[in-house]
Amino acid sequence: MVPHPFRVERVQRETADTFTLTLEPAAAGIEIRYRPGQFNMLYLFGVGEVPISVSGDAASPVPLLHTVRVAGAVTRGICELGRGGTVGVRGPYGTPWPVEQAEGSDLLVIAGGIGLAPLRSVVYHLMAHREKYGRVAILYGTRSPDDLLYRSEVEQWRGRFDLDVDVTVDHAGLNWHGRVGVVTTLIQQAQFDPDNTVAMVCGPEIMMRFCVRELEDQGVDLGDIHISMERNMKCAVGFCGHCQFGPEFICKDGPVFSYQRIADLLDVREV
Ligand SMILES: Cc1cc2nc3c(=O)[nH]c(=O)nc-3n(C[C@H](O)[C@H](O)[C@H](O)COP(=O)(O)OP(=O)(O)OC[C@H]3O[C@@H](n4cnc5c(N)ncnc54)[C@H](O)[C@@H]3O)c2cc1C
Repeated sequence: MVPHPFRVERVQRETADTFTLTLEPAAAGIEIRYRPGQFNMLYLFGVGEVPISVSGDAASPVPLLHTVRVAGAVTRGICELGRGGTVGVRGPYGTPWPVEQAEGSDLLVIAGGIGLAPLRSVVYHLMAHREKYGRVAILYGTRSPDDLLYRSEVEQWRGRFDLDVDVTVDHAGLNWHGRVGVVTTLIQQAQFDPDNTVAMVCGPEIMMRFCVRELEDQGVDLGDIHISMERNMKCAVGFCGHCQFGPEFICKDGPVFSYQRIADLLDVREV
């Protein structure tokens, strides 16, 4: 439960309100080994602690990368830390994306907005182990072109012959000549075998619901659709109950769940 001090090496602005922090352990011998989809608790001294997914390459745990959107006091303070600032880190926590179980299948990685952050580790993993998967599609949607995360990196992914990368925005500006529409429209155009596909979906809850509906319509089994849930949490170890979601604790039973496991809960308001 005790956070380790990490030093901010770099703060990269991704969008107007979202920043990627590169963190190095402040003391020797500290390494946080994580799996794609897991999160750490980041502690800003004197302000508070928040759960943030790791957005880097799990195969290279140092430095640690976290992409943070300013939501309130803690995330604002973290994003305002400059190079040389200190943040406390404890973790990793939570369930990972099922990248090993998905081997041999077609893979759909579907992200909405900042949902690409917890999925970027998946993209790194499957690029490193590309031969283990069938067709791979990365489908990304944001509200506007200004909200696209990791823009130049996504452009590089698009340049690969072994990935189908498609991007859409809800509202185009004058300088956008790409696709316009919600991310579910990309699912309709993606190439995959519904009987042998694993989907990993992360974004706002409403976006995930519509994606699941579309995937189900296309014949993907609900047990093969995985989503990452976000809830307010405090302890991250299944103790305090802040993130309880029916019988599940998002922090230790999730954040990644198969849709089949939590479908009933998602339909209940105020859980
Ligand atoms: C497992 C997990 C992984 C996450 N990964 C990331 C990430 O990679 N990058 C990132 O920017 N954020 C992530 N979040 C969300 C992040 O934890 C919250 O934005 C943060 O806790 C807000 O804290 P705050 O003190 O800055 O704002 P607060 O003052 O606590 O909240 C500001 C506003 O955001 C809402 N809010 C707070 N926490 C959440 C939450 N968990 N989900 C939805 N709304 C919330 C509050 O209701 C309030 O309206 C993740 C959350 C979880 C549970």
